[in-house]
Amino acid sequence: MSGTQWTRIEEILDGKKTDKAIHLRGWIHRTRSSGNIVFTIIRDATGTLQATIKKDNLPENEFEDSKKALIESSVEIKGTVKRDDRAPDGFELQVTGFKIVNFAEPFPIVKDQSPEFLLDQRHLWIRSQKLSAVLKIRSTIVGAIHEFFRNNGYYEFDAPILQPNQCEGGSTLFEVKYYDNKIYLSQSWQLYAEAAVFSLEKIYNMGPTFRAERSKTSRHLSEFWMAEMEIAWADLHDVTEIAKDEIRFILNKVLKHNKRELNILDQDIKKLQLIAKSEFPTITYTKAIDILNKKENMNVKWGKDLRTLEENKLMDHFETPVVVTNYPIEIMAFYKPRDPKDPKTALCFDMIAPGGYGEIVGGSQRSLDVEDMKQRLKEQGEKTKNYEWYFDLRRYGSVPHVGYGLGVERVVAWICGIDNIKDAIPFPRTLIRFRP
Ligand code: ATP
Ligand code: MG
Repeated sequence: MSGTQWTRIEEILDGKKTDKAIHLRGWIHRTRSSGNIVFTIIRDATGTLQATIKKDNLPENEFEDSKKALIESSVEIKGTVKRDDRAPDGFELQVTGFKIVNFAEPFPIVKDQSPEFLLDQRHLWIRSQKLSAVLKIRSTIVGAIHEFFRNNGYYEFDAPILQPNQCEGGSTLFEVKYYDNKIYLSQSWQLYAEAAVFSLEKIYNMGPTFRAERSKTSRHLSEFWMAEMEIAWADLHDVTEIAKDEIRFILNKVLKHNKRELNILDQDIKKLQLIAKSEFPTITYTKAIDILNKKENMNVKWGKDLRTLEENKLMDHFETPVVVTNYPIEIMAFYKPRDPKDPKTALCFDMIAPGGYGEIVGGSQRSLDVEDMKQRLKEQGEKTKNYEWYFDLRRYGSVPHVGYGLGVERVVAWICGIDNIKDAIPFPRTLIRFRP
């Protein structure tokens, strides 16, 4: 139907088409018929709308088609928009024309199916209201990240995905056969960012990141998207404040553009609004251990990394995200420098989200001490020869620099209030799943 003006459902729900004759295209979300009347819910990318099809209002064959059509059939319909308080969204379409584009076969997804079944059917489940709402919010978040950095004078800088070195520890590397060699999928953009920061000074990127996570958790994917930044002439304090600003910026964008989706997900909008206006505290790792041991009666030894249990208990004491700095140097990656004021610890931070969502951002100052980095890599069994190019960055006009990575799916999961990170990405890859 070239030349047809197609109306989108959101325009109807916004009250812009009341009492008007319109054309609509989309999919049958639900349908039931009784005698000479069919009630269907039509969806398009922007919402759902009740459509009432009465036998006398349209050609006989079209009415018969509307009766036969199963859910997920694609349709082009015409009709008049009426306000109707009994309809789920307050509007109804009184149908005068109903054309089937494709009669759907019986849809395999029905109510109350197991999460694993839904993951097997992900290519179809992606049409569900819940996943569509998450994907729309994800799109806002990704757009907000670009906007935040571009507004603040950062250049977008791309690093290779195929990399010869590890960055975050050998145990989570994915090996790739590279002609006659063996290389790895990117665990981080960082090492290359550190090369570029001496040219561009303020850079960011968002890209696919790969980590072979050997344990099943609700926070780890094998393929995820990380939004990273690196900045020259800055220190740990500067960058924790940038991370806080970025998170508030993202939240404000979602609150502005996605109220409908947050409602579909039953998310507490007031709570998010409050967080978006709050200052986020910064505490040290040592202080965090203190809270756990004194207020939670736990027995966490200084030196141990904070796992899910500890992070969740800690966050029972906060309503907003919290920045935790100065983790023990022993458990930190080779490029995180010692804090001269507290040499048992590194100049690093994690930002932990409230409500059991764990670490959403991790970052640090970058070591400028080649000998110390070599030593630490050796202790991990690494060949330091492979890192000579990286050490060169310290040999030619090195300056203090610092950066962090934000886990896009962690932030999506937290803002959407979903229980498992798998629903924060369209086609999740985990230890046990790489299909469809
Ligand atoms: P964790 O301790 O949760 O494994 P990490 O310390 O390994 O995280 P970083 O190396 O600091 O994480 O990575 C930066 C950010 O990327 C993290 O704060 C997190 O938001 C995200 N992230 C890290 N690993 C994963 C993963 N496997 N799946 C999804 N997001 C991840
Ligand atoms: Mg990890």
